[in-house]
This record gives sequence, C-alpha cells and structure tokens, in this order.
Amino acid sequence: PTYPAERLAFMAEDAKAPIILVTAQSADRLAPAAGTTLLRIDGDDAQSGSDTSPGRSVSGSDLAYVIYTSGSTGRPKGVMISHGALANHMRWMADAFPLAAEDAVLQKTPLSFDASVWELFAPLMAGARLVIAGPESHRDPASLLADLSRFEVTTLQLVPSMLRAMLAETIAPSRSLARLFCGGEALTPDLRGALREAAPGVTLTNLYGPTEACIQAITHSCTADRPTLSARIPIGRPISNVSAFVLDEALEPTPIGVAGELYIAGAGLARGYLNRPGLTAERFVPNPFGDGERLYRTGDRARWRADGELEYLGRLDQQVKVRGFRIEPGEIEAALLAHPAVSQAAVVIRTDTAAGAQLVGYLVPAEGCELPPPAELKEQLRRTLPDHMIPTFFVALDGLPLSPNGKLDRKALPSPELQSDSRVYHAPTTPEEEQLALLFAEILGVERVGRNENFFELGGHSLLATGLAVRIRQLFGLNLPLRAIFEAPTPAGLAARLGTLEAASDAIEPADRRKALPLSFTQERLWFLDQLGGTGGAYHVPMAATIAGPLDVAALGHAFTDLIARHEVLRTRFAEAGEGAVQRIDAPWTLALAAEDVEPALVEARLVEFVRRPFDLQNDRLLRVALFRVAPERHVLAVVLHHIVTDGWSMGVMMREVGLLYAAHLFGRPSPLAPLPVQYADWAVWQRSQLQGEKLERQLGWWREKLAGAPAALDLPTDRPRPAVQSFAGDIHRFTVPAELAGQLQALARREGATLFMVLLAAYQFILSRWSGQEQIVVGTPIANRTRAEAEGLIGFFANTLALPADLAGAPTFRELLAQVRETALGAYAHQDLPFEKLVEALQPARELNRQPIFQTMFVLQNTPPSGGSLP
Ligand code: AMP
Repeated sequence: PTYPAERLAFMAEDAKAPIILVTAQSADRLAPAAGTTLLRIDGDDAQSGSDTSPGRSVSGSDLAYVIYTSGSTGRPKGVMISHGALANHMRWMADAFPLAAEDAVLQKTPLSFDASVWELFAPLMAGARLVIAGPESHRDPASLLADLSRFEVTTLQLVPSMLRAMLAETIAPSRSLARLFCGGEALTPDLRGALREAAPGVTLTNLYGPTEACIQAITHSCTADRPTLSARIPIGRPISNVSAFVLDEALEPTPIGVAGELYIAGAGLARGYLNRPGLTAERFVPNPFGDGERLYRTGDRARWRADGELEYLGRLDQQVKVRGFRIEPGEIEAALLAHPAVSQAAVVIRTDTAAGAQLVGYLVPAEGCELPPPAELKEQLRRTLPDHMIPTFFVALDGLPLSPNGKLDRKALPSPELQSDSRVYHAPTTPEEEQLALLFAEILGVERVGRNENFFELGGHSLLATGLAVRIRQLFGLNLPLRAIFEAPTPAGLAARLGTLEAASDAIEPADRRKALPLSFTQERLWFLDQLGGTGGAYHVPMAATIAGPLDVAALGHAFTDLIARHEVLRTRFAEAGEGAVQRIDAPWTLALAAEDVEPALVEARLVEFVRRPFDLQNDRLLRVALFRVAPERHVLAVVLHHIVTDGWSMGVMMREVGLLYAAHLFGRPSPLAPLPVQYADWAVWQRSQLQGEKLERQLGWWREKLAGAPAALDLPTDRPRPAVQSFAGDIHRFTVPAELAGQLQALARREGATLFMVLLAAYQFILSRWSGQEQIVVGTPIANRTRAEAEGLIGFFANTLALPADLAGAPTFRELLAQVRETALGAYAHQDLPFEKLVEALQPARELNRQPIFQTMFVLQNTPPSGGSLP
C-alpha cells in the first residue's frame, strides 16, 4: 500500500533509522530528520556501496526488523523482531516445507507486512528461485495468475480474501503451483473445497500468527481434512520452539472445547513495541507456565480441540481484518476526531452491506456544526491513513447508541444502506454503459447502478475492483488495467475508456496466406453437416428488398463487385485437404448484374426458387445476387448467401457497404470505405490459436459446470410422435404483446437490474418448465460473438450459440428465477468465446437424428432497429 507522507514521517521519526532507502518517487514524500541519510536505490546511490564485509556480528537478540501495525490509540506501533525469532521461524519452515532448487516462491506481499519476510528468505536459504511479483499482483488476481504461470511459481502465500477473489473468477491456479499457504484471516471450508476443485494437486496450509509472534506461530495442514462444509478449519499446532495457551481471565488454562484468549510463548516472540514500554507490558506478560519468560496476549478467542489442534473463534477486542489488513478501528476514530466538525466517532466493520465486509464510520457532529461531505472526510483521512483504512461509508448520527453500562453499543449502529437515498440515478445511454452498469450492480450486490455512480462510493474496494476488471476483460475482450477502474470508477467513465483500450492479449493478425487456411469452428460444423448431406436450404441466408425509384443497375453491380473484392469471404470456397477442410480464396470476380423483367405476381415464386437453389460449397460462389424489374422504376433485389460465409450481423455490414459503394459509383467518386485490417480467414486462424490449452479448458470448465444437471432433451407434450429423422418443416405463430405489458416488462427488468432479454428468457424458461414438467430447462440463444474490434466490420460467420440452463427446482419465485437467469446470462456472455460445437464435442451428449444435442429450443430477441436504408 502507499502510505501517506505523514505516516511515513511518523514511522521514520519513531524508528530513527539512520539510513532510509528510497526511490525517486518516495523521496519526494519524505522530509528526513537531521542525521538521516536517504539513499536512492534507483539512482547513482545504488552503485556507491562497498563489497567488503561491514565486519559486524549479529546475535540472536539483535533486531532483525521493525514492522508497523495499526495502533488503537491513533498511531501505528512498531513490532520489534529479533534475529533469533526470525531464525527460529525460518528453520522451522525449512524443515516443515522444504524447498528444492526447482521450486519458485512468489514474493508478492508488500514489504510492510511480515509475510514478505519469509517469501524473501525461504527461497534464498534453499537455493530455490525467488520471483518478485509485478506491482499489482498483491491485489489483482489476474496479474497474480499471470505471474504464477509466467514464472512457474510453485509456492505461494495468500490471504483468504484474495484466494476467494481468485477462485471466484473461475481462474484455476497455474499448473506449476504445488503449495499454497493461507493466513492472516480465518480460512473457511468453502474456500478449501473450491481450491480442491479448481486445483486438486495443490496442498493447502492454514497459517496463523500475529506480527508480534514473528510471521507464523501455529499451522494446520489441510491435506488430510475431510471435506465437510460445516466444521471450522483449525489453525493447528504451534511451530517448533513455540507454545500456545488458551487461558481465561484469571490466566488459568481453559478445558478442551472451552473458549478463552489465545496466548503465545517461546522463541518467536517479539521484543515488544518500539518506544512503547507501557503497551509492551500490557501485551507481553510474565509466563506462569515456564515455557519461556513471557506470554504474548493475542486478543484472539480460541479453543483446543480434543485432537490437540487449536481453533480460532474471533477477536476479543475491536481489532478487525479487512481483506487481510489488520486494522484498529481506534486509529481511524482518532483520525476522524481530528476534524473540527466531528465530536464523536465510531468505526466498525460491517458484513451486512451489499458489497461484503466494509469499514463504516459513524459520526456525531460537533455543537452547531454540520458534518463535511464523505469526500472531504476521506480526503482528511488519506493524509494519515493508508487506503485500506479509509471507511467506505459514513453515517451521521445525533448521538452514538450506548448500552445500559454506558459503553458504545456497536450492535445498535444502523446499517449504512439506509443512507442510500442520496443516490441519483441516471440511466445508461449506450449498450456499453448498460453492460457496465449491470456488472457494477452485480458485483456490488445492489439493485441497479446509474451511469454516473461511483464504484467505490457504492461499496466497491480493490478486490471487488479486480473482479470487475476481470469481468470487463472477459466481456469486452479488452486489456483493461485495474488502474482504469480507480481512475474512471463510473459506468459512463469506463465506457468512454473502452474505446481507447487495446484488445486483450492477442490481437487478430493477418495470417500467412502461403499456409493452408483452416475453417473457423462454426464453419467446420456447417461443412460437416453439408458433407453428410441433407441440410436442404436450412443454411441459406436470404435477403430481399424492394427498390423504388430510378436505379443505376450498372452502379449496383459495381458496388457488389467492389464488395466481393473487399471481403475475401465472399469469394471463398471450401475443400477437403489432408488434415481437414480448408478455405480456398478465389481472386476477385465481377458480378454482372442485369435486371430481369418479372411479372409482379410471379416475383414471390421466383424469389423462393432463387433462395432455395442449392449451394455446392466446393465449387459454387457462395454469394448470389438477382435483380427483378417489376415496373419501370420498381425493382426487387434478392441476395442469398450460404451461412458458412455470413451471419445476421454481416447482412447489416453488407447492406451498408453496398449503399455507400453504389453512391460512390453513381457520382464517380472513390470508395469511401477504409481497407479492412484483417479478413475472416485471419479470424479463423486466430480463433484456433486462442481456443486451446488452458484458455479452452477454462471456458469449457465453466460450461461443463453450468450444464452439469441438464437433461438429455426437452420433452414437450406433442400431439403427434416425433419423426425418426429431424425435418425442417416449421411454421410461424405471430402474436402482439400489448404496449402496456411491454412497458411493464421493461420496468420489471430495470427494477431487478436485468435486461428485457433476461426477463423474457426467464418467462420462456418458466413456461417450458410448466409444459414439460421438467425442472432443468436449457434454451439456446444466438450471440454476435464480435468481441474483437477488428471483427466488427467483417462479413463472415461469427455468430455463436449459447446454451443457457435454468434450474426451476424448488419452485422459485419469478424474481428468484430472474436473478438466476441474469447470473447465467452474464456468466455466459463472459464465456461466449467457446464455440457451441466445441461444447458438444466436449460434453458428448447422446446424438439422435431427430433432435439437436444439448438444447432443442431457441430464444432470440431481435431488438436492433430496422435498417431500411435508402440509395441515392
Ligand atoms: P497480523 O499481525 O497482521 O498477521 O494479524 C494477526 C491477526 O490476524 C491474528 O491475531 C488473528 O486475529 C488474525 N489471523 C492471522 N492468521 C489467521 C488465521 N490463519 N486464521 C484466523 N485468523 C488469523
């Protein structure tokens, strides 16, 4: 964490360190006391050392380090650890968890926390590899995971909240990871279970220890734990040369199973708090039991289990852990009281806020004063406190609630949610803003979020921000740095940023045309179906438009010819070659367009004939255009393509470009269209490079889990038996949804933080469940799958199909179902890269000739505005 200048100055002054190592950046924020030397480690000073031994010897009782931790009286306290205590810890660690030369330990804990000490020394002592993590890795799971796989890290320490954030993102730890240490907060059985599932080979150890007992004092290996969700995970047994006691108020040991305060004795104890003899005497008390001279009072509630392991039960005082950071609320209260308008202050951690554990400040204004706005209070706190100690919410009270004995009654403090009426809602204005607002709401656990609402003011914090960043990266396929969320924390602000970001990791690049060009996965499926024969016209994509007014037929022909030159996919044929099918791209060809006179009454029959004429994917051109003149100034333009080279989105691209090119030819102007950076075949190559190995596994894993309980088929009651082989005979049933009902559906969507699509899908799945009597309903839905900016202007078959399951077991209310549908849809969008055919391949459902695998019904919301264009 970045410490404010005042805090740095306090620590420098308190520690009286004669030399302070600084970087150019931090030097500016430190005004050294007289007699202190600042050494720049990123400047010339770095070279000025000497390589001869300083000739000093160190004894066990000499200080190894002083680490500052939050102090309840308003200033941090320096914990003094001796070389002897550190040596004891490091030797125990080397015995208990020996590292070999092949091991690599990630040093990712900031140096102001003691876990960083073992991260640094354990690998150096064993001759293993020490990997210094990237600057964001202590708080950004994505960056952490990148470090893990890039440097093949085998050993890692995490606080449980970070582990949770990592696992929540469905990102499995890297393959190399073998050992995970978790400590600093209570480790929960659900986390242990989730880790086991995500990374079965990783051994998990629970580490317990306050800074005052040198990093870790008590540990428990989770390897042999049975996977029960209810029981606590013990913190375990003391490490070598350390003892633990559970004592009552009279310093008498409590019986097994009875809670008391946890005391620690032995080689790990700190010398005490620097310059704080009173506090030292209070916390380090004489040891009546003989194992060492002193006992450290941890302030933790604990009890012994019958098997000799210890269980952690909570705190006896106000000290809290927020995302692994140890905090004394008293220190924050003291900083708040420094504001002249504040007469009383209480700070508590609340777990009942929508966004999980949060610090909340309760303030009583001074006589005749008004409380400053939260932003100002935060600003004031930032002068002395690091970011993790700044409360998210402030609540103004007339007085602090007191219990009958006159003490602050923390339980009577109101929930900060009541204060949210000051929020102003402005609806999102673009699809990006809407998606971002939905993500915000989902992650923060609030009903809805306006376009200008601030993530952090609604309860967001750094770990939630990392979750948000991961989701945005997945959803938009963009390389969003975590920083961006801190700099532009509103949906509107972030949406504006999206345009300036690079596509995530691997941009689509032009592929080597000398090599065989593979089909995209979706094309491959159509190719396969075509080879089997029998799709009839099911994959023909037709379009017809009436053109009224004088038409320059030659210009229209030229426009299509230009379009064909521009988009390789429109002159691509397919062939079987050795390893699999390949794309064969022809040289540009000229579309000779002539208008044919057709009786208006015969137009429909001609269109049907035109549209149904089969395509031979190996030998035919896969774009056909016809023009019928039905009256002197009235034409019908008919276009048909095989789906293997187009999709719904492409038809829009095509009509727009034909219109622009027609106008250019009509007026003898050059083409207004910028050349395409990449072509469809490049995307196909890119898609194949993306969907393999870990990435593919990650996507597959999500879908596998989602579809785990899905039935083989939807069994709707029908009045005739299903044919043995699927036919393509279908029909259209039209009905109108009254405007009033449509409006109510929109309103319901808004209220529930969902989209209209989600509301309608939930209703559809509900109906299907009623009709079929089945509780698990899987419905297919198409998705444009143009997550890359480069693909937006291309014609080609990109669209993917998502299989969305809903679970109606236990008769959920509609709102519950909607919440579930929303969750599933958002997750599915984030995993939309996986082609449906890959999913079928992986799930291997029983194939029947008369049914589609996985889902048998689709749901499509066509809510793009109609694009009736006009030609000059
Ligand atoms: P710190 O000095 O920052 O390491 O914080 C020490 C405090 O964190 C302990 O007194 C406990 O309250 C808590 N703590 C540390 N490790 C664990 C653990 N494994 N399980 C539960 N609480 C822990």
